[in-house]
Formats: sequence, C-alpha cells, structure tokens
Amino acid sequence: AISIRNLKKSFGSNEVLKDISLDIDQGEVVCVIGPSGSGKSTLLRCVNLLEQPTSGQIFVGDDEITDPDVDIDGVRRRIGMVFQSFNLFPHLTVLDNLTVAQTKVLRRSKSKAREAARHNLERVGMTHKESAFPAQLSGGQQQRVAIARSLSMDPELMLFDEPTSALDPELVGEVLAVMKSLAAEGMTMMIVTHEMAFAREVANRVVFMDGGFVVEQGPAAEVIGDPQEVRTKSFLHRVL
Ligand code: ATP
Ligand code: MG
Repeated sequence: AISIRNLKKSFGSNEVLKDISLDIDQGEVVCVIGPSGSGKSTLLRCVNLLEQPTSGQIFVGDDEITDPDVDIDGVRRRIGMVFQSFNLFPHLTVLDNLTVAQTKVLRRSKSKAREAARHNLERVGMTHKESAFPAQLSGGQQQRVAIARSLSMDPELMLFDEPTSALDPELVGEVLAVMKSLAAEGMTMMIVTHEMAFAREVANRVVFMDGGFVVEQGPAAEVIGDPQEVRTKSFLHRVL
C-alpha cells in the first residue's frame, strides 16, 4: 500500500505537483489520467524516488520513504517501474536481462535467478523467447519482457508510466492483457495511461490530474463514465 500526503514538487520556480494526497490499498489498481504536463510522470517518479519531493510525505507499507535517512536503493528494490521505452539491455539475452539484477542486487544464486526469470517469462507469455536478444523481438514482446524483468525482483508494487504509448496499435493489446492478469493476481499497481477502455475495465479507481492537482478521483465508471468536474469532462471529451 502507498500513502501520499501533501506531496509537492517544484522544478526551480515551476511548481509541478501542488499538494497531492492519495492512498492506494494493497491489491488496488489505480489509473492516473490527465493532460500532458499535468504532473503524472512526476508523481510516479516521486513514489520511486527518481525525483526528490519538495515537501510532503510518501509511505510505502509502514515505511516513510521521504524520510531523509531512507535507504533509497532499498526503496527502489520494493517498487517495480515500467516505462514507455522498454530499456532492455541490448547485448543480453532475454533470460540474462531478467537475471542480472537478481544476482547483482538481490544476491540470488544464478540458478535461483533463472528459476524466477522463467517463472515470470511464463507469466507474460514469453517463455519461448528466453534465448532471443531484444532487437529480435517486437515492441510488445520487449515490453512484456521488461514487465517480467521487474516482476523478477518480487516488487510489492508496480508503477507503469504509459507502458503502451510507444507501441504500434496492434501490439498494445498483448501488453494490456499482461497487466490485466497481474491485476487479477492482486498486484498493487499505479498506472499512468491514455487507454481509457483499459482503465474502465481494470482500474479499481481512476485519478484525474490537471495542473499539478488531483481534480477528481473515484471508481472508473464514475470518473470516466460520469465525470463531475468541468476539467475532467473537457479532457475526456478530447481523448474519447
Ligand atoms: P505527459 O502526459 O506529457 O507525459 P505528465 O503529466 O507526465 O505529461 P510531467 O512529465 O510530470 O507531466 O511534467 C509536468 C511538468 O513538469 C512539465 O511542465 C514538465 O516540463 C516539468 N518537468 C518534468 N520533469 C522535469 C525536470 N526534470 N526538470 C524540469 N521540469 C520538469
Ligand atoms: Mg508523463
């Protein structure tokens, strides 16, 4: 579970996050939507400490990760992150992409790491490509491998920042299907996405951000299906 309290983030004089408070329960799937520049990526990056919040608190489980004395690497190890670009290591096979951080960071034996890697390749339907190199895979396959790589670290929570935006339209569905199955398994997920049909179907809650604020949040059917705020309505009008 995550608890974000009164989070603010500025870049110089540009205040990008303006007092965000948000709770995500264990096993909950929250989709974050909103216009370009509204602060969605910055919010995710703060949760992963890729950005240092200007003020406010973030708790992951019982631990305050915004505590100045926090072990940043320890926090990142608990949180999986999947980006728009797949960021696989091009010179490593699929299997080696999944084992390298396990052996280096978690200090797992090579055989334990391979076992976890193969288990997670199966979860994303990529077992048959374990010996391939990233360049030999489609974008959708690469993103599924990137998800399996994150899962191999046994994260408590997964963050996704527009995981399908760089994909050809015909490859979007296979990645969304993997995310949907993770949701069904009870993974806690925070997903920035423009895929409204996916959000409607999979999210327990949808958060609409604009101008650094959470403008509206609630069940997907309400926020997407029957928005109350003018800014939510006009955003949805543009994207739907
Ligand atoms: P998009 O939908 O285009 O991805 P977003 O909602 O993810 O947009 P952010 O990337 O969080 O928006 O950016 C919000 C604002 O913060 C923008 O004005 C951006 O220019 C600014 N910003 C983000 N990262 C930095 C940075 N590292 N340094 C300075 N400004 C930044
Ligand atoms: Mg973004």
